[in-house]
Amino acid sequence: PPPAEKYEYQAEVSRLMDLIVNSLYSNKEVFLRELISNASDALDKLRFLAVTKPELLKDAADLAIRINTDKDNGIVTITDTGIGMTQQELVDCLGTIAQSGTAKFLKAMKDSKDAGGDNNLIGQFGVGFYSAFLVADRVVVSSKSPNSNKQYVWEGEANASSYTIREETDPEKLIPRGTCLTLYLKNDDKGFAHPERIQRLVKNYSQFVSFPIYIWQEKGYTKEVEVDEDPAEASKDKQDETNEKKKKTKTVVEKYWDWELTNETQPIWLRNPKEVQTEDYNEFYKRTFNEYLDPLASSHFTTEGEVEFRSILYVPAVSPQGKDDLVNPKTKNIRLHVKRVFISDDFDGELFPRYLSFVKGVVDSNDLPLNVSREILQESRIVRIMRKRLVRKAFDMILGISMSENKADYERFWDNFGKYMKLGCLEDRENHKRLAPLLRFFSSQSEDEMISLDEYVENMKPEQKDIYYIASDSVTSARNTPFLEKLLEKELEVLYLVDPIDEIAVQNLKSYKEKNFIDISKEDLDLGDKNEEKEKMMKEEFGQTCDWIKKHLGDRVASVQISNRLSSSPCVLASAKFGWSANMERLMKSQTV
Ligand code: ADP
Ligand code: MG
Repeated sequence: PPPAEKYEYQAEVSRLMDLIVNSLYSNKEVFLRELISNASDALDKLRFLAVTKPELLKDAADLAIRINTDKDNGIVTITDTGIGMTQQELVDCLGTIAQSGTAKFLKAMKDSKDAGGDNNLIGQFGVGFYSAFLVADRVVVSSKSPNSNKQYVWEGEANASSYTIREETDPEKLIPRGTCLTLYLKNDDKGFAHPERIQRLVKNYSQFVSFPIYIWQEKGYTKEVEVDEDPAEASKDKQDETNEKKKKTKTVVEKYWDWELTNETQPIWLRNPKEVQTEDYNEFYKRTFNEYLDPLASSHFTTEGEVEFRSILYVPAVSPQGKDDLVNPKTKNIRLHVKRVFISDDFDGELFPRYLSFVKGVVDSNDLPLNVSREILQESRIVRIMRKRLVRKAFDMILGISMSENKADYERFWDNFGKYMKLGCLEDRENHKRLAPLLRFFSSQSEDEMISLDEYVENMKPEQKDIYYIASDSVTSARNTPFLEKLLEKELEVLYLVDPIDEIAVQNLKSYKEKNFIDISKEDLDLGDKNEEKEKMMKEEFGQTCDWIKKHLGDRVASVQISNRLSSSPCVLASAKFGWSANMERLMKSQTV
């Protein structure tokens, strides 16, 4: 056989391994979850490819994960019949850092250090393949990809900077397809090589894996067996002077070893919502999306009729991009299945509008073709209907949070995703009715706590027809604007639009419950207190003063007028009715720089 070749790890890998081992020593058992989740991913990939290439299944039709333990030698093996890895893939996947889970882990490590450190939280992260070294000092990965006619073995040791790859030549170890991972446990961790221990962990950690997980386990059944009388008993019997030879039976336990199915493979979204607990939904969410916080809300539903699909949607507790970042369209938040087969997490944009891209979840349709592509999705009438329903469900879910007893939940939502709702006002006219009740603003009567438009409307004066707002860059500067004076005097509430996007959002809405949004900095603000007599008098008295000021300011102002909107300030710079507000002008300037 060709000799094993030696490879050096990418530098980050060694650092990551140190980090994992040092931060998760009290959470070692996560290794099993990670390795099973990799096996499950590999099976998903194969199942997906087999949709168009059924011949891929010919060597091993069952898609399953099998775990075997050898307690005498402290060995655990995990075998899957998934996609496997070629020689090159072994190098690429197990010698360099995989981006998805591990990047999150590194970030969590950093955040946790900043926050004083909580290793329990970190245990919730996907830390990936290298977690095998939490419990093993030697790991052997033997893998056969359908794209290669040879099977290769990757072998690495804890605390080493290199690993080896060789061809598998032991005929006993050849597998038709997939991956067999062998862990040679560290002395202190040999306890993991017990089927009962593995079974408990699988039940705990891997209940949402949709492929069967079998554990090689000792089983037993009882049976009655006839036994010969023992001589002592027999002699007693003789004293009874019975000649009849008595036959005795006894119950024995017959032991044998077999594969035992350990998990429920029905995907959670196919279960009856009445039988699923909130904790199950949350657990599924955390496992599937590598999250460590529970979601703010979830919604499990089936739609029937024109289009049938099942879905579980979630509103995360935090925005992954950080709340000030613009909406990132590459989210991988929606996992699309067709007839239970995982298809892709790359179609978020087809299933949700950009402003709802933070919603996470699974969608499973029986009406789409298994070989569905982006092009098919984009032209599909079915998808258009699905999209509508998904959006509606997402809104119901968000509305639910806003009506929850626990006010902090919606505050948290707004803090993280308020921007997205405002973006929705710009991008989705059709859903203005659903978006508007979700908006929150500070106001002249509520400077510390944001209010909803419903609260504003309830608080309107009987004679008040419009919703007043002033756009500014902060609550403080909004409060100090002279435009406000008259309205404060009349106790009319004014919304403070302090986020640059607020004003555009409100202008897109135009009205709420048939009440127009009115910018109080515009020139023709009508507070319903016109007094024509007085105005005429004022004009006569100050008309010339206005002309004089206009002459001096020239083109710098459009006009100089007498106004009744001020109570203590002598003058105010107002915007023309159809011109930009001062805030908008500031915004446009910042955009063109
Ligand atoms: P992640 O699962 O987040 O990608 P891991 O470190 O867990 O990161 O795994 C790295 C990569 O190794 C996987 O993306 C996959 O390509 C490959 N891999 C790991 N285990 C298996 C397996 N059992 N079968 C096929 N590929 C695997
Ligand atoms: Mg993984």
